[in-house]
Amino acid sequence: MTARTGDTGQRLSVDFIACEGRGLCAEALPELITPDDWGFPIVSHQAVPLRLLDDARETVRACPKLALRLGYGAAPRPDPGRREGAG
Ligand code: SF4
Repeated sequence: MTARTGDTGQRLSVDFIACEGRGLCAEALPELITPDDWGFPIVSHQAVPLRLLDDARETVRACPKLALRLGYGAAPRPDPGRREGAG
């Protein structure tokens, strides 16, 4: 038996042009996705933990607009409300 610990190095991302913001993904994967005030998903910038990888894949497959993605290389984005050097 293999322990399902650690992270996968993969991150979720959203194509907001395609996303309809109905919150299906946030309901399916609340550990990594929360809805904003309008229902659009806010995805965790952390790598998907191995224990949630199957759930994350299934949530990506279930997105009716193919707007949710899982992959490598998506670097965490800086907080848009925070300016360089603003502490
Ligand atoms: S399931 Fe897909 S279309 Fe629906 S809110 Fe999530 S990313 Fe957007």
